[in-house]
Amino acid sequence: MRKPFIAGNWKMNKTVDEAYDLAIELVTGLRFVRDIDVALCPPFVSLTAVKSAIANTMLKLGAQNMHDQDRGAFTGEISPVMLKDLVEYVILGHSERRQHFGESDAFINRKVHAALRHGLHPILCIGETLEQNERGETESVLARQTREGLAGVSADQVASVVIAYEPVWAIGTGRAATAEDAQQRCAFIRQELRAMFGEVADAVRIQYGGSVTPANAPELLCQPDIDGALVGGASLKSEDFIAIVRAAHP
Ligand code: PEP
Repeated sequence: MRKPFIAGNWKMNKTVDEAYDLAIELVTGLRFVRDIDVALCPPFVSLTAVKSAIANTMLKLGAQNMHDQDRGAFTGEISPVMLKDLVEYVILGHSERRQHFGESDAFINRKVHAALRHGLHPILCIGETLEQNERGETESVLARQTREGLAGVSADQVASVVIAYEPVWAIGTGRAATAEDAQQRCAFIRQELRAMFGEVADAVRIQYGGSVTPANAPELLCQPDIDGALVGGASLKSEDFIAIVRAAHP
């Protein structure tokens, strides 16, 4: 009942020309895509080029971040008003934003509301650090980030939100969570969503992210509460990203 969803987070990689070329390779390699959502999330400056590369295909476009205000004196920022006619998805609260740019749950929550107000689908990233994991705090961190990130969101709205469970220790390290652990955490997040929103929690897609590769994707993606993946490093290589999408194919 939940459509699988694979998103590629290209982070701060690729020039505009390189981004266009990668998108064209993906358009060719992903012609088989049916009954699954696939989104490419290039840097802001490449959104227009990638949008033209994927025009008239099943591929969708996402941004990697945005500000919560519609406009104003926020030098260097991008607003939901600027994104809403360009992208369908926006990654919010990525651990790199939380860690390097000091983004709080309250700020991320304001961004979630701004995205929803403008018809964008937020991909809300949550996940524990290694220290929190080792201290046995994983569930309390996930519960807090889910509750604070989605505070004030209605049950109607939450169906268009995607949650990405990304253990921080797994991002870019080559050390993915085991399929069993990832499933357990995603099931826990769904339980939190159920406590907050009721049965609509069963419609919310939860991705796993953190060192997803063609090798580990099949096992991760067949877990009952894992509805797709947010892919960083492997989304920059067309063969790898195509293989991951193939693994998610129903
Ligand atoms: C990410 O940045 O969201 C991510 C999951 O990165 P990687 O796949 O490289 O671990």
